[in-house]
Amino acid sequence: MLAAVLGIAAASPVTAAPEPHSSQPNTVVTFTFDDGSASQSTGAEVLHRHGMRGTFYIISGAIGSPGYLGHDELRRIAETGHEIGGHTVTHPDLTQVSPDEMRRQICDDRANLDRWGHQVTSFTAPFDEVDDNVRAAVQRCGYSSARTMGGLRVRDCPDCVAAESMPPADPYEIRSPGMLTRETTVDELKESVTRADDSGGGWVPLVLHQTCDRCGPLAVSPRVLDEFAGWLHDRGTAVRTVHEVVGGPVAPVRHAPPPQERDRPVNASLEQAGPDGVPLGWETGGWGTNTPVWSRTRDAHEGEWAQRLDMPHFTDGDAKLMSTLDLGEYSLPARKGQNYTLSTWYKATAPTQLAVYYRDRVGQWRYWAAGPTFAPAEQWSKAHWTTPPVPDEATGISFGLALFSRGSLTTDDYGVRLNTEASNDSSCRELDWWVPRRWLCL
Ligand SMILES: [Zn+2]
Repeated sequence: MLAAVLGIAAASPVTAAPEPHSSQPNTVVTFTFDDGSASQSTGAEVLHRHGMRGTFYIISGAIGSPGYLGHDELRRIAETGHEIGGHTVTHPDLTQVSPDEMRRQICDDRANLDRWGHQVTSFTAPFDEVDDNVRAAVQRCGYSSARTMGGLRVRDCPDCVAAESMPPADPYEIRSPGMLTRETTVDELKESVTRADDSGGGWVPLVLHQTCDRCGPLAVSPRVLDEFAGWLHDRGTAVRTVHEVVGGPVAPVRHAPPPQERDRPVNASLEQAGPDGVPLGWETGGWGTNTPVWSRTRDAHEGEWAQRLDMPHFTDGDAKLMSTLDLGEYSLPARKGQNYTLSTWYKATAPTQLAVYYRDRVGQWRYWAAGPTFAPAEQWSKAHWTTPPVPDEATGISFGLALFSRGSLTTDDYGVRLNTEASNDSSCRELDWWVPRRWLCL
């Protein structure tokens, strides 16, 4: 009996009525939005007004930070029926990180989005950088598709096919006409659809970043989006999310290997060079209006290399070298409630200060604490400071010696010591006037 029922159910699509627009080529448009930039709220609203839904590929570690969607906005976008997809935790080039870090970036992002209540099946890689290992990890983390940037016909690729097939020939390499920019016109968008129509139909996944007026090179004006969506609506062209086109079940969340335990920064003596004149495993950070100039120098404390920072112009903010703000390939693991003694050797022509960041459970990096000020030093001197207990939600830490005026600063031989005895550092207080969780310790 049960088999007979199933047999009928399986046969039903064959006998289904023809589609209402069967006289038109079967072209389907998908609006995909990368990064979760704040202005995408507007893009989501424009589509919603036309009864359309898009796919939003989210950098989960950026949600709630300046320039990105907040948690409430992301929830609203999902509640209006848009699809939420994954775009890693912190948006690195996945082909340039270790295999474990790559898996954390992909799997943990999907786990974050799942924890926030989204059913996540669609992925796109940062910078469109994919190799066989990334592709395998995307599948292992439970994604059923991955969109790429390009492969469909545009001016630069006159011989490319006009539309992706449905279902896509390779769901882990969904082709698109590339990124929309602020130069993209409504006519060009219409053309991408009529071109697909003329070649017998197919899938046209469009790639958007911001949706605001003149707010960046990749920003599409909401007016352009509105006019194009109205045109699609009037001519009856189907608009679907990536998941609606690709289909398939929602795979369970899979977790990546946790970061290695480690008691000192990787490349602590800055001997190994990384890309862009910065030591391997380190990155330059800072904020405000100033002009940091970074160079590797042979004026080392120990070994052969140190890192020099020159600041010829300064209005406000700071600049500093820090362990890469990642998911654990280079940054140090943090243990709840424990204190760390952070140190580095330095030479400086101006005062400096240790600045400490922590990674929360989502994988987002937060400014946490500032240590005492260290005096300028002509000879190598050691800056060190014991932090307050690490916040409960911290999973990793990174720190740097900040220069916050004109001058120069050379650093070398960084160290971290975990203090097994809890400290009672009553001279620290939390400041709430600048950024949450900033501590002032005197
Ligand atoms: Zn991106």
